[in-house]
Amino acid sequence: MAEILPFTDDEIIKLVSRYETPFHVYDEKGIRENARRLIKAFSWAPVFYEYFAVKANPNPYLLTIFNQEGMGADCSSMAELELARRCGITGEDIMFTSNATPADEYRFAKKLGAVINLDDISHIPFLEECSGGLPGLVSVRYNPGPLRTGNAIIGNPKEAKYGFTREQVFEGYRILRDKGVRRFGLHAMMASNELNGQYYVDTAVMLFELAAEVSKELGIRFDLINFGGGIGIPYHPEQKAVDFEDVSADIRAAYEKIIVPAGLHPLKICMELARAMTGPYGFLVSKVLHIKKTYKNYVGLDACMANLMRPALYGAYHHITVIGKGNDPADQLYDVTGSLCENNDKFAIDRYLPQIVPGDIIVIHDTGAHGHSMGFNYNGKQRSAELLWREDGSILQIRRAETVDDLFATLDFGGLGKFDRQTHHLGEDA
Ligand SMILES: *Cc1c(COP(=O)(O)O)cnc(C)c1O
Repeated sequence: MAEILPFTDDEIIKLVSRYETPFHVYDEKGIRENARRLIKAFSWAPVFYEYFAVKANPNPYLLTIFNQEGMGADCSSMAELELARRCGITGEDIMFTSNATPADEYRFAKKLGAVINLDDISHIPFLEECSGGLPGLVSVRYNPGPLRTGNAIIGNPKEAKYGFTREQVFEGYRILRDKGVRRFGLHAMMASNELNGQYYVDTAVMLFELAAEVSKELGIRFDLINFGGGIGIPYHPEQKAVDFEDVSADIRAAYEKIIVPAGLHPLKICMELARAMTGPYGFLVSKVLHIKKTYKNYVGLDACMANLMRPALYGAYHHITVIGKGNDPADQLYDVTGSLCENNDKFAIDRYLPQIVPGDIIVIHDTGAHGHSMGFNYNGKQRSAELLWREDGSILQIRRAETVDDLFATLDFGGLGKFDRQTHHLGEDA
């Protein structure tokens, strides 16, 4: 996926003539087809439900696309809950998986009827007290700690702040059961950007086994089991996408081996994927402002870390296409940079690309998840617009670019007139 653009060079050039760079553009057709592939792969399950993790791309149009495809929203904050609500996604179509959760967020999640996924055993009394009683359905997030090794990005489970220990899982469900909760969920998220499908299967097996044990010991049944997010995407051309069909077949075998004999069938099988849902279908389009030759060769873009943090944050690889130069030899070594006063504001380091000149259009691939949403406003840089490339080829702007006024909206210039400049000298008398 990483190398292939779903748009022609001419289409990109036309787009750039109509919309100011930089912008992210999302491929609606690709998103919908992928969503349908996932649902089809799990059609064996009594109920299969994907909660798109909102944080990866919190745009109402994308949430609505997923909702139209039969998916819900995984929310982790007040704003994400409110965004889902405003998109008409409510009730158990929302999974609320948060941590260090404020009381008002629990109250709001409960009011919306969301599936509340508790991060800690102490949150049982906290939720009960802050929201006037426990909801009918409660989910528990499990952290296996030393029982499982983590993957590179999310780290060792023992070092992860999330979830209940194994002992707390049993104790937690016992408390919930004794308090009258009758519907239960079980959740874990064990990886991030993991391209080995087996890792996801292992998480499913781990959760199935745990559910069977808990059920046997406490005499409770489960409504849903949620394997979390974490399926990776092939950012690098040499990587391979996880095959939903393969993962599904293995999870199905585990379901039949563990869940059915334990008497837990029928079960709702849930996921909260994000990267694998939108990542490959987003593209950051930017223009080359400068070519600089010093100790290295630099391509200076009109995009910066405000638009995409991943390369600077994780050293992540994002494939880069220079529009109109696909047939030129990639024999020039460049660092591709943004304009922040931060030397790690680079989209690529030591990348071989075709010869680039100012004015060239650059497309950075796989920006559909954890791209725009992760952006920040350091140096007063504004986050870009987001465009949706509709299935019929039309373009819809689904978020406008930020303006300087947006950035200054929280500042108080009006108060400056009355501001006592003497306060600067308070320290001198002390
Ligand atoms: C971030 C997150 C996800 C989505 O993760 P991806 O790696 O993008 O699939 C799902 N669930 C929770 C709780 C998360 O924090």
